[in-house]
Amino acid sequence: MHWHSIPVTVIRSPRARKVWLKMRSCRGIEVVLPYRVSTSEVPSILERHQRWLMERLAELKDRGEAPGQNPLPDAIRLEFLDRRFSVRYEEGPRAELHAGEEDLRVFLPCGKVGDGATLLQMWLVGLGKTHLIAYCLELAAQYGVPIGGVQVRNQGGRWGSCSARFTISLNAKLLFLSPPLVRNVVLHEFCHVEHRNHGSAFKAALRTLDPLTDAYEGQMRNAWENLPAWTKWRRGDGTD
Ligand SMILES: [Zn+2]
Repeated sequence: MHWHSIPVTVIRSPRARKVWLKMRSCRGIEVVLPYRVSTSEVPSILERHQRWLMERLAELKDRGEAPGQNPLPDAIRLEFLDRRFSVRYEEGPRAELHAGEEDLRVFLPCGKVGDGATLLQMWLVGLGKTHLIAYCLELAAQYGVPIGGVQVRNQGGRWGSCSARFTISLNAKLLFLSPPLVRNVVLHEFCHVEHRNHGSAFKAALRTLDPLTDAYEGQMRNAWENLPAWTKWRRGDGTD
């Protein structure tokens, strides 16, 4: 596959100061343009960066995540649990996942890549419920935070949230992060019990609980961008 055949999306951003290029399995090539740059310049921008585009495509291919490539992984490493799972795929009459201690067997009807992603997401949420809920309750007890409950889902867009009744929702994708980052997300939600916004009082409270909060901000953003494609797959994304 050549990068010429990958779909290109142009995004206009009032915040961008310069041109940004991204290539991801789920969205193809994205070009983020500041308002002062005309869309007519996009073809020449791509030509100028073709070396980067080729390198990025090779990198994604290595991970089995090039646009249009099978997005299902051969291995899954969950840093929070310090565990690695190998994944094997077999053809079967219906989509099924059998989970062992270190290996997963996924049975899929021919061509049903999306079903595989859905099964893996369900497995991830199950593992998240086992480990993240206990972890969150333990931290709540340790810090004396009166949370209303904890739930784990595979939501898009955010690592966690805190409802008006102080129910904390944690993203199962947190299992891909290191323990200090997961702790920071949980403490972030704890601070919402007292502060409902991200104002200066909230920030001060979170920095008191976790002095490394500011240092983690960039890492959290990177971690989200680098999550495996299958964790973000939604029915209708066109891989099926
Ligand atoms: Zn928040």
